[in-house]
Amino acid sequence: MMNFFRKISMFMQGRYGLDTMNKVLTALVFIIYIINFFVFNRTAHFVIFLINLAIIAFIIFRALSRNINKRSAENRAFLKVYEPAKNWVRFTIRRIKDRDNYRYRKCPACKAMLRVKNKKGTHTVRCPKCRYEFKTKI
Ligand SMILES: [Zn+2]
Repeated sequence: MMNFFRKISMFMQGRYGLDTMNKVLTALVFIIYIINFFVFNRTAHFVIFLINLAIIAFIIFRALSRNINKRSAENRAFLKVYEPAKNWVRFTIRRIKDRDNYRYRKCPACKAMLRVKNKKGTHTVRCPKCRYEFKTKI
């Protein structure tokens, strides 16, 4: 068994391996795989299956690639889109969970999102980030 893992680690030496982009793509493959259970049109089902295979081939290609600079650059470009999207989803989930107790308002000066207690009326809010004071209605 030891020998097996040593062989794998020797094989992976100088190769790119897994990064965030590959992990997200792997998750995407599983999601598409599950969605495809509910696609009953045979042609559409087959096309989705092929797309998934192509994504898997792309993941393997990236993981085994020896062009580490290029793969890192791909990952950096991916993170530029992925991180804001992930943060937006997280923030939206929190906003929905908080909706009974808090409302969110943007600071007019620095654009930071501020959480304001959900009490009817006009409130004076001071932004903790830039100390700007403004009035907001709830
Ligand atoms: Zn501010």
